[in-house]
Amino acid sequence: MENCIFCKIVAGDIPSPRLYEDDKMIVIRDIEPKAKLHYLCIPKQHFALLSEMDEGRAEIVKHVFQTISTLEEQLGLQGGYRVIINQGEDGGQTVHHLHIHLLGGEKLSDF
Ligand code: AMP
Ligand code: ZN
Repeated sequence: MENCIFCKIVAGDIPSPRLYEDDKMIVIRDIEPKAKLHYLCIPKQHFALLSEMDEGRAEIVKHVFQTISTLEEQLGLQGGYRVIINQGEDGGQTVHHLHIHLLGGEKLSDF
């Protein structure tokens, strides 16, 4: 997708160290961390919203969550973490390429 910053990161056009990568997803650090540890899990396929879900995308989202569960230790999230998916205007989504925030490394405040 043209002009999508996460598509550019996935393609390697914008350099961003990958903490994990496979054929369906990457994990990078958020450039403006909102917690001691703040990761972004980004599917390689571009779509913006959960409402655009189809069977193929559901498989990708399932894969992302299964992978997250195997990365907890490697990412330093053994103490727990928060999972956030911002959706659309009211959800505060600023990058319109679906991504899953993982926040942890400290006791997070209530929200
Ligand atoms: P959201 O507001 O849910 O769309 O989240 C977008 C996130 O992407 C924000 O937390 C930004 O700090 C982060 N972000 C934007 N550009 C980059 C980048 N080049 N590398 C890493 N994270 C980024
Ligand atoms: Zn994209």
